[in-house]
Amino acid sequence: MVGAGQLARMTHQAAIALDLDLRLLAARPDDGAAQVSPRVEIGDPGSGPDLARFAAICDVVTFDHELVDLDALARLEAAGTTARPSAAALAHATDKAHQRRRLAAAGLPLPRHVVVADTDGLARVGDDLGWPLVIKSARGGYDGRGVWMVAGPDAAAEVVAQLAAGGTEAVVEERIDLRTELAVVVVTRPGGDRVVYPAVETVQVDGICREVLAPAPLDPAVLDEADAVAREVADVVGAVGVLAVELFWDGRRVLVNEVATRPHNSGHWSIEGAVTSQFANHLRAVADLPLGDPAMVAPVAVCANVLGAADGRDPLAGLAAALAVRGASVHLYGKDARPGRKVGHVTVIGDDLPSARRRAAAAVAALGDPVPGAPASTDGEGSAR
Ligand code: ADP
Repeated sequence: MVGAGQLARMTHQAAIALDLDLRLLAARPDDGAAQVSPRVEIGDPGSGPDLARFAAICDVVTFDHELVDLDALARLEAAGTTARPSAAALAHATDKAHQRRRLAAAGLPLPRHVVVADTDGLARVGDDLGWPLVIKSARGGYDGRGVWMVAGPDAAAEVVAQLAAGGTEAVVEERIDLRTELAVVVVTRPGGDRVVYPAVETVQVDGICREVLAPAPLDPAVLDEADAVAREVADVVGAVGVLAVELFWDGRRVLVNEVATRPHNSGHWSIEGAVTSQFANHLRAVADLPLGDPAMVAPVAVCANVLGAADGRDPLAGLAAALAVRGASVHLYGKDARPGRKVGHVTVIGDDLPSARRRAAAAVAALGDPVPGAPASTDGEGSAR
């Protein structure tokens, strides 16, 4: 696995059970997964020679992030390396302009948008899409960095000119009146066998996912629509392994926002909440083994992210308090808890969404920044039983 962050760390846990020899290409020896794996190569995934050296010791190469030298990877594939997903599939995740072109050509439902390389005609584009609008850097964004809401032509021109100066295209799109953000994790084997996890709601605050609710508490018809759209997206992207499809629900339609070609935050609930986790299924797909059941083992699962607290305290200082919350499964990623940084998550499975949400939030508050707007925990939910 290229990359050694928390996704590789959780994939490593799944690899242990299957006795798969998971090797890591880590940028630094203290990366989250490098701390716990004995099979670490240090190198730069953006460097062709480092990728080549790593590929030479692997039967199959997969990824915990998309920031890979795709030209180098494509050359390695041409020379016989098996990459799952392939460079061609990964390109959808590294470049939002490419992704939009491909999904639009396939007729998938998307926010109305235009890809621009400079400010020519931008005011007209904005008038057509309606102000305020959303501008996204085609490359390099994550957790809302690289996304701007702009009120008018001057602000739009400033953002696009800045991106153009760095040689990056911009996706300019209508602002959707979001009711709910959804995600669907699809896992595909090389031969095309596929499993699809239930559609989840991702509760975002300031561009960062704070909670994942499985299944999304919406009309089953909306979940079916999300499932169908995600399968179509998976056909277009052609990724082996986990593909996460992020979606918008505006009260009328399901629209595709973006895709990730790797295990995804919206699937972490599956470690405790599904028969087979997204990490186990990613490994099975990449190793071309039969996929496991994505069905839920309880009526609901809530996964709340742990973000570093404003006072910079170590999440481990709150571990005992978090573990005292009934049913709270705590995952910490071994990262420095800078304020606002995603350093772990807590999953609670159960019968009742409000209760699971309260308990996940109570554990998160012990470890880091409180989940915004989370109701206080009540009666006995704070005690381990
Ligand atoms: P990133 O790659 O940084 O996660 P996204 O494209 O997912 O960027 O956008 C981050 C967040 O910005 C989304 O989760 C959503 O809350 C908001 N957003 C993005 N596009 C739109 C849009 N067209 N209309 C309304 N909100 C949007």
